Amino acid sequence: MTPNVEPRLYVAAADELAGRVIAITGAGSGIGRAVALACAAHGAEVVLLGRTVHKLERVYDEIRAAGSPEPIIAPLDLERATAREYDAVADAIGARFGRLDGLLHNAGLLGDLSPIEHYDVPLWARVLHVNVTAAFALTQVALPLLRAAPDAGVLFTSSGVGRRGRAYWGAYAVSKFAIEGLTQVLAEETSGVSRVRVNAINPGPTRTAMRRTAYPAEAPDSAPLPEAITAAYVCLLGPGGRGMSGLSVDAQAPRP
Ligand code: NAP
Repeated sequence: MTPNVEPRLYVAAADELAGRVIAITGAGSGIGRAVALACAAHGAEVVLLGRTVHKLERVYDEIRAAGSPEPIIAPLDLERATAREYDAVADAIGARFGRLDGLLHNAGLLGDLSPIEHYDVPLWARVLHVNVTAAFALTQVALPLLRAAPDAGVLFTSSGVGRRGRAYWGAYAVSKFAIEGLTQVLAEETSGVSRVRVNAINPGPTRTAMRRTAYPAEAPDSAPLPEAITAAYVCLLGPGGRGMSGLSVDAQAPRP
C-alpha cells in the first residue's frame, strides 16, 4: 500500500487526536516521551506504559503542565511481565475507555554491540523478548480493544539495521527484522476484516540515551532531538494514517 501522505512531513491539526486513546510503551524517556507529549498536545488521552514509574510520573506532569488531557500511568516491565499483567493493562484500558485508538510499541533494548560468535546467549534472549515477544504479547491482548475503535493504528518500532543487517548489531538487528515481519503478518491479518492499521516506523538517528550508548563517539548534536521527529508518529497513530497499513515508514528523511 502506498502512503497517501508523507508521514514525516505530516502537519496535524491542533485537535487531530481529540477523543483518541493512545498507548505508548517506553513512554518515560527518549522517543516514547516525546511522542506521548506530541499526542497529548494534539488532544489524545495517552496511556503511559513503562517500567520506571518516576519517569512516567514526570511525563504525566509535563503533559498536565502543557494543559493537555490527563494521561494514565500504566507500569509494565516488558522483560518480566506475565500474562496476568498484560491482561490487567488491557482490562484497565477496556474498563476506562472501552477501546484503544492507537498503540505505539516504542520500548526497546539495545543489548551488546558484539560479534555473533561472542554474543552472550542470555542477553540475546532478553533483547528478543523485550523488542519482539513483548510487543507481540501486548498487541495480542490489545486487539479486541483496537477492533472496538472506529479506526486504530498500531505502530511497531523498527530501525535501519532491521532492514539491512550490520556487523556487530547482533540481537538488536535481528529483533528489528522480526518487527518488520510481525508488522507485515499482522497487517495482512487485519486487512479487510477490521479497521486496524499496522505499520512499522524507523525513527532514524535520534538524540536519546540509546543513541549515546550505541555511538559514544558521535557529537551529541549530530542527531535531532526526539521532539523533532514526532510528525510521522502522530500521522500513523491518528486519522492521518487512514489507508496506510503494512508499511515500513521513516520518521526522518534518509541521510545522503
Ligand atoms: P531510550 O531513550 O533508551 O528509550 C528506551 C525506552 O524503552 C525507555 O523508555 C525504557 O524505559 C524502555 N524500556 C527498556 N526496557 C524496557 C522494559 N523491560 N520494559 C519497559 N520499558 C522498557 O531509546 P530511544 O532511542 O528513545 O528508543 C526508542 C525506540 O526507538 C527503540 O525501540 C529503539 O530501538 C528505536 N530506535 C532508536 C533510534 C535512535 O537513534 N535513538 C534509532 C532507531 C531505532 P526506562 O526509561 O525505564 O529504561
